[in-house]
Formats: sequence, structure tokens, C-alpha cells
Amino acid sequence: METTGKRKFNLREIREDFPALRQTVYGKNLIYFDNGATSQKPQYVIDAINKYYSKDNANIHRGVHHLSQKATNEYEASRKTIATYLNAKHTHEIIFTKGTTEGINLVAFSFGQLLQKGDEIIISAMEHHSNIVPWQMLCERVGCVLKVIPINKKGEIIYDEYLQLLNDKTKLVAVSHISNSLGTINPIKKMIDEAHKVGAKVLIDGAQSIQHTKIDVQALDCDFYVFSGHKVFGPTGIGVLYGKEAILNKMPPYQGGGDMILKVTFEKTTYNELPFKFEAGTPHIAGAICLGKAIEYLNQFNIEDLEKHELELADYATDLLLTFEGLHIIGESKKKTSVVSFIVDGAHPFDIGTLLDKQGVAVRTGHHCTQPVMDFYKIPGTVRASFAFYNTKEEIDYFIAALDKAITMLR
Ligand SMILES: *Cc1c(COP(=O)(O)O)cnc(C)c1O
Repeated sequence: METTGKRKFNLREIREDFPALRQTVYGKNLIYFDNGATSQKPQYVIDAINKYYSKDNANIHRGVHHLSQKATNEYEASRKTIATYLNAKHTHEIIFTKGTTEGINLVAFSFGQLLQKGDEIIISAMEHHSNIVPWQMLCERVGCVLKVIPINKKGEIIYDEYLQLLNDKTKLVAVSHISNSLGTINPIKKMIDEAHKVGAKVLIDGAQSIQHTKIDVQALDCDFYVFSGHKVFGPTGIGVLYGKEAILNKMPPYQGGGDMILKVTFEKTTYNELPFKFEAGTPHIAGAICLGKAIEYLNQFNIEDLEKHELELADYATDLLLTFEGLHIIGESKKKTSVVSFIVDGAHPFDIGTLLDKQGVAVRTGHHCTQPVMDFYKIPGTVRASFAFYNTKEEIDYFIAALDKAITMLR
């Protein structure tokens, strides 16, 4: 794939890259606005999955034979692609995981082994369940204390409250870069710098940011950054934990098994070096290789071009949604990504979602794995339309007309 000189943003051509967009449901053209839950895959990634299983399939890091070496090379090349894309200092700072959830659990377990009773962990009130529950489990196990940064009505972190929570007992701040239910973009650079002043480490949940914006882990200076392959146009079941070398070296392994050891005897086992220390067992080889392909696909473009288009879509949709009587947007941060959550007086989100589906429009309804956010707004859930760079204004026009029909039926 062309790497020098970026590919021009041409929406028609881009849509042709995504076969899943060319289908009908219930006889209607599919309009896929559930990108926050998972993204569609470009043919480039689908072909790579096919090629891997047709030609390259072998176990890695062990075989002397040709195929095993080929698979190993591709697996490690993908790690390098991802390290370069994130601007990690070292390739071995990229650990393959199952996804964001496993990345956070790995840190909660392993970094958690270094914590003591009374140590404090800070999260925010807008976190996904997978950035809440692992910390609660750690607190139960070790006796740490979980502190929560509150949010305001617009769905923004109350920054002064964050500063109040930081102190020399704070060992870790774990916060989402971008909220999946509100679309809020958090001021993570400032937050990281403040946390470092008290000696705390910072984990960024990048599940909703890697696909929308350029990430430079060294410029951010975050200690951990986690994301899922499937939300960034790659396969499910694969993700990445980036961690700074010095911290990862201090952390004990997460799981024991093959590949994570140097030498095993019944008396004593010595652990492998990074990144293998954290990759026990046969990994999702095809997934890791094809996540690298998804990053290559994304990297053909200027990500700013994609971002600009996505934000135009979100603004366009928001303006049209606001013309509906009794419709309320949930999440009105000044800094927002292309996620629009809303509720409609007198119509349950689930019913709206069902009637949209019958018209070919895929949106997400419910609490979006952020129940505390829904409790804060005292609502059962929202309808969420989340846009990717392959979506169009015409699709939004159709969605708005479909929503109008749905609301008319429900009231
Ligand atoms: C999707 C998501 C997760 C969980 O990702 P998985 O792929 O299910 O592991 C965590 N945090 C945020 C913000 C998300 O959007």
C-alpha cells in the first residue's frame, strides 16, 4: 500500500473500500451509524485475513520452518507498524491483547500488584464499565480507594474537582480520551501533566479516540494507552496495550503459560522480556497481523481530513436533530467527537432504535456500558448515532426522515 504521499479524501471511493456498506436490510439500504460499538472493515483488511489463513497460517515464535517464520515476521511487523503509528519509543512497548477490556484488566491486575492498601485510583464519572469494574476489583483485592471525578450537565469533566482529588496517595489516573456515550473529548494532556506532578501514572482508554484522531503517546506522555482493533477498522478479539518500557518492566506477568517464559523448571521459572512477558499462549495471530493492516489502511489518509468530515457530519446531524420538538441531546461538551446521543420525550430509546432498524438505520440504544452516566442524567438510556469517515450527509438526511416517522408512530 502507498505510504508516501497521502491519499486524497474521496468519499465515493472510500465507501467502495467497505463491502459491508453495500447491502440492504429489510429491503432498505443499510445506514450504519453504530461505529462507536464497532466499525466496518475495509476490503484491504478482509483480504489480509483471507490471505493469512489461505497461505501463512502457522504458530509463531517457535517453528524453524518457513511458514512459522513468515507468520512470526508478519506478527512482529504489525507490532512495528502500530508502534510507529502511535509514536511509541520502542516497539516492545506494544503488547497485543484481546482489546481495550483486556488491556485495562492487565494493568489493573499487574500494575495493581505494585499497589498497597490506601493507595488511590482516580477515574471519571463518564467511564465505560470496562474502565470502572477492573479498578473496583483491584480495590477489593488490595484495599485501594477509588475516586471519581464528577461531570457537569454538558457531560464535561469538572476539572477543578479533578485537581482536588489528586494527592500523593494517587497512584493511577484511568480516564477515557473520548467518551463513548457522550462524545466528550477530555483534556487528557493537561490531566496527564497534573497527575505526573503528584507522581501518579496515567492510563488512557483510547477505545474511542484511535479511530478519530492522531495519537502520539510520547507527546501525550501517557504511561498506558489501550484500544481495540475492531473499533479502528480491524478485527475483533485483538487490541493493544501501550505502556512505557520502564513501567512494564517493573510489572509482573498477567498470565502464565507458553511464550512468556525464558526457562521453566519445577524449582524456578524466569520470565521472558517485553513484550512477550505479557503475551502468554498462542495469540490471535491473524488478528494482530490484520490490525496492522487496518492501521496501514488508516495511515494512507491525513487523519485530519477524516476528522474534519466526521465533525461536519456530527454538526449536520445535531442541527437537524434539534429541530425536533422534545428531543434532547445528551452530551454537549464544547469539545466533542462524531457521536450524537439523544432522548425524545414520550418515546423510549429502544422503540426508536427498533423503528429505525426496520428502515435500515443501525443505531445503538441503551446505556452504552456507561450506566453511571445514565444515572447522572436520570434516564434509562439514549439513542446513539456514531459516525465514521465513510458516512455521508445523504445518510443523515435519510436517518432524520426515518426518525421523524418513528417518533410520529410512537407519540
Ligand atoms: C468499546 C469501549 C471499551 C471496551 O472495548 P472492548 O472492545 O469491548 O474491549 C472501553 N472503553 C470505551 C470508551 C469503549 O468505547
